[in-house]
Amino acid sequence: MRTIVHLDADAFFASVEQSADARLRGKAIAVGGESRGIIASASYEARKFGVFTPMPTARARKLCPKLIVLPGDYERYEQFSNWMFGYAYDFTPSVEQTSIDEGYFDITANRSKSSLEIALTISQAIRQSLKITVSEGIASNKLVSQIASKLNKPAAFETVPGGQEKQFLHSLPNRWLPGVGPKTAVRLNAAGLADIGQIAATPVDMLALLLGNQAPVMRQFANGIDERPLIPATEPQKSYGKQETFNEDVTDERICRSRAATDGR
Ligand SMILES: [Mg+2]
Repeated sequence: MRTIVHLDADAFFASVEQSADARLRGKAIAVGGESRGIIASASYEARKFGVFTPMPTARARKLCPKLIVLPGDYERYEQFSNWMFGYAYDFTPSVEQTSIDEGYFDITANRSKSSLEIALTISQAIRQSLKITVSEGIASNKLVSQIASKLNKPAAFETVPGGQEKQFLHSLPNRWLPGVGPKTAVRLNAAGLADIGQIAATPVDMLALLLGNQAPVMRQFANGIDERPLIPATEPQKSYGKQETFNEDVTDERICRSRAATDGR
């Protein structure tokens, strides 16, 4: 059985800004464009006022008049990202970075410490040296580790022991499954498949009516099965263009938000 950790920084851009400038700590801040007009990342202090991504900056300012909006320093974010993943590379070469602030690493082969110790060492090192927090999910595959890291952000540390994957996913809304966007969720809900456990229990030919050729893999996911390998970087650290960086974080946080809303929190 594999041991995969999914690492996901919390409110990454905003947290890096607060790390780099002590005056911003504890304050409602956001990274976003006045010209682009949307919020790309909001500190947890700002989120208390209802500021989320992607939200028009004008609306964010109305909700939170004291909001400090910063234009974003993408070179700095990339530097923090490299440092952050550097701690994972201390334990394994098998690191798959999926965005500037998210990725998987496989610690199956590392026997120097237990998986929990390794994951904890990494998050503590990041907190102490970079002054940002991350969430981690530890599981036997990518799917479950990713959901585990995102379920209780920020600073989440969730482990799903091997054999408990299906049980862990059972009562979660279908939207947590990769590939289930808002439209598919509505269709699944209408068919009585609001929870992942209900998808897991549905025959694959029935599921195909709703999900087409995605049905087999989705049913496997719903059952906590995910054989996808990690795809470690073969070249030196990827370089993220500014535009790409911006979009990825927006997407990431929007997904988190819609999921959080689904969970009613
Ligand atoms: Mg993140």
